[in-house]
Amino acid sequence: MSAPTGEELKKYERIVIDQDICISCGACVAVCPTQALEMDENAKARLIWDLCIDDRSCISVCPVNCIWQTSQAPDDSKAKSGWYRFSRELDDTEKKIFEEWKQNYGITGDPVQ
Ligand code: SF4
Ligand code: SF4
Repeated sequence: MSAPTGEELKKYERIVIDQDICISCGACVAVCPTQALEMDENAKARLIWDLCIDDRSCISVCPVNCIWQTSQAPDDSKAKSGWYRFSRELDDTEKKIFEEWKQNYGITGDPVQ
């Protein structure tokens, strides 16, 4: 499956992860069909923003329920930083889509650069 690019990135709602709740089990990483999740340097799950295609299988396998579809995520989790990054540099169209996504869903936390 090829990763979404350009205007396609608009289609996806994605997920929010609260790394303070994550217990580092790795279940979400194992189940993601697009390798849109990884364990970060602190052994916490991290989203790779541009690779998520909304299949939501990570949400149901998390034993501590710290993954939500973005529209249902708690505000305090959306305000945390570092729980997501990009797989590559976004072009100008994609950057605009990313900014719209943040605005639409009230994401105030920053990605890992
Ligand atoms: S919603 Fe699906 S594609 Fe997105 S991170 Fe979770 S398992 Fe991966
Ligand atoms: S399934 Fe939940 S607890 Fe396990 S690594 Fe993923 S986010 Fe963390």
